[in-house]
Amino acid sequence: MGFEKLGLSKKVLEGITAAGYENPTPIQEQAVPIIINGKDVIGASQTGTGKTAAFALPILHKLEEHGNLRCLILEPVRELASQVLDNLETLGKGTNLKSLLIHGGVGYGKQIDGIKSGVDILIATPGRLLDLMDKGIVRLDKIEILVLDEVDRMLDMGFLPDVRKIVTKIPRRRQTLFFSATMPSAIESLAKWALNEPEEVEIGQRQGVAETISHAFYPVASGQREDLLLKLLKQTNFKSVMIFTRTKKDADTLANHIKKQEPDYSITVMHSDIRQKDRQEALAGFKDGKFDVIIATDLAARGIDISNVSHVINYQVPENAEDYVHRIGRTGRANREGDAFTLLSADELDHATSVEKFIGQKIEKRKIEGFNYNYTTLLDEDAPTPEKLAKVFRGRKRGGSRRRRR
Ligand code: AMP
Repeated sequence: MGFEKLGLSKKVLEGITAAGYENPTPIQEQAVPIIINGKDVIGASQTGTGKTAAFALPILHKLEEHGNLRCLILEPVRELASQVLDNLETLGKGTNLKSLLIHGGVGYGKQIDGIKSGVDILIATPGRLLDLMDKGIVRLDKIEILVLDEVDRMLDMGFLPDVRKIVTKIPRRRQTLFFSATMPSAIESLAKWALNEPEEVEIGQRQGVAETISHAFYPVASGQREDLLLKLLKQTNFKSVMIFTRTKKDADTLANHIKKQEPDYSITVMHSDIRQKDRQEALAGFKDGKFDVIIATDLAARGIDISNVSHVINYQVPENAEDYVHRIGRTGRANREGDAFTLLSADELDHATSVEKFIGQKIEKRKIEGFNYNYTTLLDEDAPTPEKLAKVFRGRKRGGSRRRRR
């Protein structure tokens, strides 16, 4: 089914052509008509499914012509907010609607000038928006459509109280669109409070991962992590690779190690200690192919739209299984093939099991030919698995107590 059947205006269809989209994704097919109809929506959809356009298209359709500030889109992080702006600008090419980005970490001047010049759509992170509301610069009394995006991420970042404060300043007669990949109780109660008889849009499993991604664990003794990663990079025919580390320090150390050992790779690093301007440069450079490797912490994992990532490598197994899904969401986007590799050491087995449970599949363990492995039980096929060890241990405990009773 093409986009024409979704009931979008000619001007919006022009934007879709400019973006190069041929057919709507499932979430767009479901959500666009509901939103055009004026209903509230609660959507569970991973990034990478075309979620942004699913709300951006009907918003552009409904706002039609330049006028007042009528739409607010709240995003948890600036990178995500700036991506939503890019999407709106491309898809809105055929309209005269104006969108503006508001986030912290930069000066106020341009943002204030932007608001004063008149905008229709504001894309904002909660902190700076509240700040500008307190200063009397932004008023939300004409908002007709409110989008709360990546609400689970807002919860993680402690933004829910700010979100509530913002929502109370928006007229109750509005349309609210609410997106969250997971729905813990705090989010459910926020949804009940903010939404009015919403229609649910759920694409696939809430915790699902794109089917086009293939997963593999690479077992390694923890002292050999850096070397195995280099070997893995060398043997992989990658176009662009995103490596995730658990800490900022790991990201910096690993980047230096790779630069020293393999000066031919062009590498950039992205984490929260890096200035906003440099982070934007890193992201832009990675997107346009100036860098072929980006090393990032989870800050960069959520929602960032880098659609050409051929490989995601987890330098460690993420402690939080949900982070695995968000990290690997950088590859296999919009039905492209992708690979997700994860280095695994013996002390991370519990996390590995949680990841497998979370995504509902067993992940294959692979060895790299010709790598000089130090021994780890993970590589030893005859070695007892943790499950077997646990059984033996439980058996021994039972035996021991029987003896004592006698
Ligand atoms: P999102 O889930 O919004 O982060 O979108 C993921 C990627 O899919 C982005 O690069 C979008 O530009 C792209 N995309 C969104 N909708 C479509 C579509 N209908 N056809 C092709 N690509 C799309």
